[in-house]
Amino acid sequence: MSAVVDKVKEQVIKTGARMAAAGLVTGAWGNISARLPGESLFVITPSGIPYEAINQTDLVVVNGAGRIIEGDRKPSTELMLHTAIYSACVHAGAIVHSHSIYASALAVAGKTLPPILEDQVQLVGGAVRVARYARAGTADLAAAAVDALGQGKAVLLANHGLVGLGSTVEEAYQVCQVVEKAAQVYIFAELIGQAVVIPPGDVSAVRESFLTGYGQQD
Ligand SMILES: [Zn+2]
Repeated sequence: MSAVVDKVKEQVIKTGARMAAAGLVTGAWGNISARLPGESLFVITPSGIPYEAINQTDLVVVNGAGRIIEGDRKPSTELMLHTAIYSACVHAGAIVHSHSIYASALAVAGKTLPPILEDQVQLVGGAVRVARYARAGTADLAAAAVDALGQGKAVLLANHGLVGLGSTVEEAYQVCQVVEKAAQVYIFAELIGQAVVIPPGDVSAVRESFLTGYGQQD
């Protein structure tokens, strides 16, 4: 079991470093968590430690209620956001929360990201909604995020940032990258004219074909 835990922790650390290097967060903002396989336990990044400085002993293991099971650090201040999403979305194996620029711009404007790009539809499944505003670190924010997320894979937090889900940390991070790119393209498209959304029938067909056949294609 401990080799598995170490592997999950390593993925969280690596993804945090990538997220910081890619500019999707600055300093210690944002956070990452991952479910330990077959357990109702989660690894989460600590509060206030820059991603490049985090090592395995800084990560905190919590249960579904947010109680600390292992680790001396204080868990991320968004712990409730993570545990609420895991409890509402049983498919979630990992959660990445970023403060990236273009997703944040939509979150400030209160604008849903419609389904506009194929990779967005493939990976995220469609539109990404904005949760109602609630202050960072509160139970209210956790509830607002869960409401707007539904069974989706990403949600924008009003005046704050983005949350992406995946079955793995890698996938949750990819969701954040793809939503950030789509948010940028959406804003640019609206600036030069009007963004044209992918028709609903095609959204479901593209998503379906990604889920069923993508692995066998190139
Ligand atoms: Zn945040």
